[in-house]
Formats: sequence, C-alpha cells, structure tokens
Amino acid sequence: MINIEEYIINLCLMISFIYLTSLLYKHFLMEADREWKEVTLVVIAALTGWVSMYFGIHLTESVIFDLRFVPIIVASLYATRRRYIVWVGIGIGLMRFTFGFSLAAAVGFINMVFLALMGVLISYLTRSWTYRRKMWTVVLALNLLNTLIIVLLGVIPINDILRMIMPTVFPANILLSLLLVWIVKDMIDEHVNKLDLMDKAGRDPLTKLYNRRAFLRYFKKYSEDERIFPLSLGFIDIDHFKKVNDQFGHSTGDLVLQHVSGLIAGSLRNVDIVARYGGEEFVVLLPDCSQENARMIMERVREAVEGDPFRNNGVTIGITLSVGIAATPGVGPKELLEAADRAVYLAKNKGRNRVESA
Ligand code: GH3
Ligand code: MG
Ligand code: MG
Repeated sequence: MINIEEYIINLCLMISFIYLTSLLYKHFLMEADREWKEVTLVVIAALTGWVSMYFGIHLTESVIFDLRFVPIIVASLYATRRRYIVWVGIGIGLMRFTFGFSLAAAVGFINMVFLALMGVLISYLTRSWTYRRKMWTVVLALNLLNTLIIVLLGVIPINDILRMIMPTVFPANILLSLLLVWIVKDMIDEHVNKLDLMDKAGRDPLTKLYNRRAFLRYFKKYSEDERIFPLSLGFIDIDHFKKVNDQFGHSTGDLVLQHVSGLIAGSLRNVDIVARYGGEEFVVLLPDCSQENARMIMERVREAVEGDPFRNNGVTIGITLSVGIAATPGVGPKELLEAADRAVYLAKNKGRNRVESA
C-alpha cells in the first residue's frame, strides 16, 4: 500500500516551497538582476527536489518514490531560457548524491538529466501551443518518462509495478503534478495581473504617459534623492489648445494630444520621467540635469513639436508649446513644480512658443 501520509507530507512541502519562492520573488528577486534571479530560482528548484527526496514516499522497503521531477515540469513550462531546465535537472540530480554515492544515486542523476533534456525538447516542440495543451503535454510526458525509466531500470519487482506503480503511483503523480503546476500558474498570473494593474493605475489612458499620480510619486522620490541632483523639471503647456478643440472638435483635440505627447516623449532620454499632468499640460522630470541642459532639452522638445504639425484627413494643425523650467540648486527640490509652473506663465506672457526659467 502507498503510505498516504508520506504522499501528503511530500505535497505539503512542495506547496510550501512554491509559496516561499513566490514571497522571495516578490520581495527580493523582482528587483535583482536577471542573472541573480535565474540562478536563485534554479537553486530553489534543486532544493525543492532535494526536500522531496528526503521526505520520499516509501513504496516498499527499498523503493522510494517522490515528486522530485515536478520542478523540472515547472521549469519546462516557465523557464525564460531552455538551458535553465537542464540546470534544474542537473541540480536535482546532484542533490541525489547527498544521500550517498551509489549506483542508484548515479541512475537517479541520469534520470533527472534525461527528464530535463526531454523537458527542453517538449518545451521547444510545443513552443507555439496554447498554455493548456503545452501544460498537459509536459505533465503527461514527463510523468510517463519518469515512471518508464524507473520501471525499465528494473530496480522495482514486476509485481510491485503491476500492483502499485501503474494503478496508484502513476495516476497519483499526474494528479499531484497538475495540482502543483496549477498553484504555480495561479501565483504567476496573480502577480502579472497585479503588475499590469499597477502600471495601468499610473498611466494616462489617452497618451499612455504617466498620470499625475504616478508623476507625483516619482517627483517625491527624486526630489529626496541627492544622488541624482542636479534635478530639473520642465512644465509644458500647449498654446491656445482651446482653439484646436473649438475649431476641429474634441476628438481631433484628443489625437493632437496623442501626437504631441509622442513627440515630447521621443525627444527625451529614457531615464527622464514624462507625464500628462492635466488636460493639455505635461511635466518632465530630468534627473542628473543642470538648468542649462534642461533648457537645451526643453528647447529641443519645443522645436520638435513646432516642426512637426499634426496632420489628419487633409487638415494640418500647427502646435506650439510654452515651457517653464526650474532646476536645483537655484530652486529647492520640493519647489521645482511650483517654480516651473510659474515660469510657464512668464513664457505665456512673453508671447508663447518659448522656454523660460524660474
Ligand atoms: P493657453 O495658450 O493660454 O494655454 O491657451 P489654452 O487654450 O491652451 O488654455 P486653456 O487652459 O484655457 O485651455 C485648455 C484646453 O484644453 C481646454 C480644454 O477643453 C482642453 N482639454 C483639456 N483636456 C483635454 C482632453 O483630454 N481632450 C481635449 N480634446 N481637450 C482637452
Ligand atoms: Mg493649460
Ligand atoms: Mg494651454
């Protein structure tokens, strides 16, 4: 008889490892560099395999079964590069030797590496399939191969194979693999959805630039971080935008806003933060940028917009910007936004289509 208790312990340990990995990922690995992240995940996968072996399921006196191959299934479905599947297989295989050097350990090692190579092959062959089809294929194929290898190696008496492995262990392993993969998938989906929602909450739906909320968060963070000083801020207001709406309608106005925001974002470095602050007002946060450089950059933005009028269905709408800039150390970091806003009024008063400093 299968020892149900051992099966449950093995399953619970795997679930705990999956949960702990997700905690570790969310709180430490997400921000780590890619290599660190991947090496850590491979090590955790190998450790999970080790724990599964340690708490192996005793089928008979000599035959121990476990779920050590499940991390290979997970890696085959989720590894960002296929070579990580092989690493996971080698890692789990090597872990087998911590229980002593023996022929059985060597066979266990080869089994894991073989399964990982099969995982690579299946992941490659099913690369364009839907997740569901791919998942079923990986789970069924790797379970089948794992059982076949164990059976073919002849360490288990044929009697036990027919009595235990085929009717109980094999289907139970498939069920447990499915359950574990489902838990992993759900955790990853939740995480991805959350990141997506968080990103959407910080974006303006019309222009896809950051919105005021996201901008203010960056502004607070950057204005407190002296390592990125001098910090400059540009406040942009489209000139006579009301006329565009009055003359061409609101929906054309919306397209003009998209056009202008694309030109603004396209004239900046990717460390700069661009946001739609309100209606036809944009703000640009320029870390590590002096007042003189900010003036040059905002001149470039102004010229880009002036030189590329909006064209649609035969109408051409010339757009100009009034820009106010403020920079540390002349202006205190917390006052940059208000100072740049005031400088916009100066630019408006001086005749629009120009850049003025606070
Ligand atoms: P000024 O040169 O003094 O800045 O003149 P202005 O017309 O640009 O300034 P004002 O602030 O009076 O008008 C801003 C206009 O921007 C009014 C509003 O209808 C328009 N607007 C604000 N948000 C949107 C939007 O999302 N879509 C469209 N189409 N128009 C918008
Ligand atoms: Mg305005
Ligand atoms: Mg305006």
